[in-house]
Amino acid sequence: MSVFSEKKIKKIHNVISVIRGEIEPDRYVMVGNHRDSWTFGSIDPSSATSVLLEVSRSLSELRKNSNWLPKRSILFLSWDAEEYGLIGSTEWVEEFYKKLTANGIVYINCDNAVQGTFSYEAKASPQLHKLLVEVTKNIRYDDKLSIFDRWLENNPNEDGTWPKINSNLGSGSDHAVFLQRLGIPCIDQKFVRYKKEEKFKNIFGYPLYHTSYETFELVERYMDPEFFALTSITKVIGETTRVLSDSLILPFDLENYHKDIKNQIKLFDKQYGLRLNKFNISLNNLAESIENLGKNVKNFNDRLNQIDKSKYHLVRQFNEQMKNFERSFLDVYYLETGSMHTLYAPSSMNKYVGNSFPGVVESIIKLDDSQSFSEDLIENIRVNLAILINSIQSASHTLKDPADFS
Ligand SMILES: [Zn+2]
Repeated sequence: MSVFSEKKIKKIHNVISVIRGEIEPDRYVMVGNHRDSWTFGSIDPSSATSVLLEVSRSLSELRKNSNWLPKRSILFLSWDAEEYGLIGSTEWVEEFYKKLTANGIVYINCDNAVQGTFSYEAKASPQLHKLLVEVTKNIRYDDKLSIFDRWLENNPNEDGTWPKINSNLGSGSDHAVFLQRLGIPCIDQKFVRYKKEEKFKNIFGYPLYHTSYETFELVERYMDPEFFALTSITKVIGETTRVLSDSLILPFDLENYHKDIKNQIKLFDKQYGLRLNKFNISLNNLAESIENLGKNVKNFNDRLNQIDKSKYHLVRQFNEQMKNFERSFLDVYYLETGSMHTLYAPSSMNKYVGNSFPGVVESIIKLDDSQSFSEDLIENIRVNLAILINSIQSASHTLKDPADFS
């Protein structure tokens, strides 16, 4: 095989537009997708570019034709140079780092909007799962079913009781920098094909991914002939954006976040518990910090339910605590792994998928790779575990009354 590639310095362009929020212009609900492609890119990324354009068009129409203005600012972000290593989004986040880390509420990503028409599929930070469920319940799939019904039917979790939502976003698209460097909760979503189809079972994404066959004709004739999936996902993203920018109280489900961490720790214990035991490393303190987080989430929700919602300073205070919750899980030490999130990060083996408790997992992998026993490597696991526990405790502190330092 011959490969011809040139090494060149080229200018890139991010395109940013904003609907200014009426009450809290300094709080940002962000929606983005990349615009650059390897070849014609009708699926990756142009299917999602059409979604971004339509969502921005419809929300600005709503603003012009009615008295509607979002409470929070909405940012529409069209990235360049994603395929070259998430360069556009990363550069932009680095340029506005201080402003975004103080003010960002959420980032909604869409990259390949349509890989098929079989089912909706989402990866999302755990506090946003409930919102996606509510939004998809309110959007029709056909005369009988909502998008949610179809999602539950075709893409359920292991026990079939709930649609599958992956809390671990991994990397592979522009949401990575928002979650891993800023601690801003994210959603990444698409419509997918029937993945169990024997012929294409082991193909990542869709059969013509990143090839020069990604033309408009491919979408129109084969991938989404009636543009049904494209229209559906546009409605989901539009409505999710509107709700997040407009709700008085942020629609963040912290209880689900706690539940998700509890589930992750069960899986982690199953996989690594015995081995850690052999090195006298116990997970008891970790379990205790998670239990403590559960109590603080409950306490926070109880207090939130009782506030007088007409008092803006109280609403703002509780929303700020929810905003800061995800930030509690960042630690600068983790930059060694290329990310800062202590709970969920892209795996060092495959950036498209995620590791839970990445620092601890990566330090165990390091020990495995060394093929020899080393006290330093075991100490490294202990340090990473301590950082993880500290970040979970920090999340508890974030939710306590701001004047409570107990
Ligand atoms: Zn892409």
